[in-house]
Amino acid sequence: MTDYDYDLFVIGAGSGGVRASRISAAHGAKVAIAEEHRVGGTCVIRGCVPKKLLVYGAHFAQDMVDAKRFGWNTEGATFDWETLRDNVAAEVNRLEGLYGQTLGNNNVEIFRERAIVTGPNSVQLVSGREITAAHILVATGAWPSVPDIPGAGYGITSNEVFSLPALPTRAVIAGGGYIANEFAGIFNELGVDVTLVTHGDRILRSYDDEIVDRLVDTSRHKGIDIRLNTAFESITKRDDGSLLIQCKNGEQIETDLLLWAIGRTPHSKALGLEEVGVDLANDGSVKVGDDNRTNVPSIYAVGDVTNRVQLTPIAIREGHAFADTVFGNNPRTVNYDCIPTAVFSNPPIGSVGMTEAEARAKHQDVKIYKSDFRAMKNVLADRNERALYKMVVAGAEEKVVGLHLIGPDSGEIMQAAAIAVKAGLTKQDFDDTVALHPSMAEELVLMK
Ligand code: NDP
Repeated sequence: MTDYDYDLFVIGAGSGGVRASRISAAHGAKVAIAEEHRVGGTCVIRGCVPKKLLVYGAHFAQDMVDAKRFGWNTEGATFDWETLRDNVAAEVNRLEGLYGQTLGNNNVEIFRERAIVTGPNSVQLVSGREITAAHILVATGAWPSVPDIPGAGYGITSNEVFSLPALPTRAVIAGGGYIANEFAGIFNELGVDVTLVTHGDRILRSYDDEIVDRLVDTSRHKGIDIRLNTAFESITKRDDGSLLIQCKNGEQIETDLLLWAIGRTPHSKALGLEEVGVDLANDGSVKVGDDNRTNVPSIYAVGDVTNRVQLTPIAIREGHAFADTVFGNNPRTVNYDCIPTAVFSNPPIGSVGMTEAEARAKHQDVKIYKSDFRAMKNVLADRNERALYKMVVAGAEEKVVGLHLIGPDSGEIMQAAAIAVKAGLTKQDFDDTVALHPSMAEELVLMK
């Protein structure tokens, strides 16, 4: 029994918040959740899910070209952006409904409005109602960053990109990370003239250099203009609606669409957190311990708002661990080792563990095995695009400490391969596994 209205009040119905609410409720807690936008959060509504569907949609362009070599006559095939956009939106609506249903089925009460923290055990809904809770969980995610430069507002972010009224003729994508490379691939395949502009000397900084070099080469070959070391100064809008980007190095770029993809800022402002004494880091992220608890003992946080690893499956694990710990009598922490990741660029990248540079900085005896090959499908398609698989091993026993792939279906292949790396297997273990032929994944057990 509790004197509070709820055992748990969750702010934010994204991946972390929804998982935490439903598991807490399943453990017997009385739970409410507030969401000011749409149930499902970034991943479902304006991130991973609609993005992946656009990746599929765009890839038909390449398949259609390749299909001719496989005997298909694709003459007259046309693409309609509105159909893809609206079908993706309908799927997102369906998933949003399912998320709401799941919460309802677990007796989680949903308040479809903004909530802010007003005390260690109280929140206020924007409509005015004050609610008390034994525990408060902040799961408000992150928000696309936009730089503070003149005219930045003429650009859009990943929040708006899924509902474009029409495809632009030219697009400039600012940034060199996940979103920039994924949308560079999508727009390029859909026939948009793409320029990717980043301020640093590398794209995808956390990925293995050789894999990234292969993506840069392949992207450039496909016609994506990648400009490194190019910082923005200002953006002006012209009478014809186009944008003129002035760069600090004197370059000017004309475009019809500017997409900011320069990172995401933890969504912790104006939530009342500082007022109740919750510690925030300089980047705005909510500081938490391994148990997801802030310095205010009744207030917890999970997911992107904590800026530990900004990935959906991590937010889900953090939310689940929180629920098991606080309401399930099963204290658990998340293990952040060997997290497999993918960039759904064209071609996609899959990665787990240490890059070659990271391994060399940490271990004395590092060895690299590689397979640089053309996928069978690309050979018949006469597509001069090579895949690269790279295995990083360390120590006399040749333990696999990193695995990095670029090539068709790399994300799919990586999920299974990551199990072996996470389990601490060696190069010999990979070699002892019989190749599954013919496949691209067989290269994993045939590396030289
Ligand atoms: P990322 O953190 O991946 O990358 C940001 C990029 O923008 C970097 O290349 C950075 O360069 C560059 N950059 C930063 N500031 C500027 C600037 N002012 N001008 C130009 N370039 C700049 O951010 P994203 O927005 O792509 O993605 C946000 C997060 O969302 C990611 O961290 C990821 O965790 C998640 N995400 C995951 C996906 C997946 O798992 N497939 C897909 C999409 C998003 P530098 O490194 O040189 O500073």
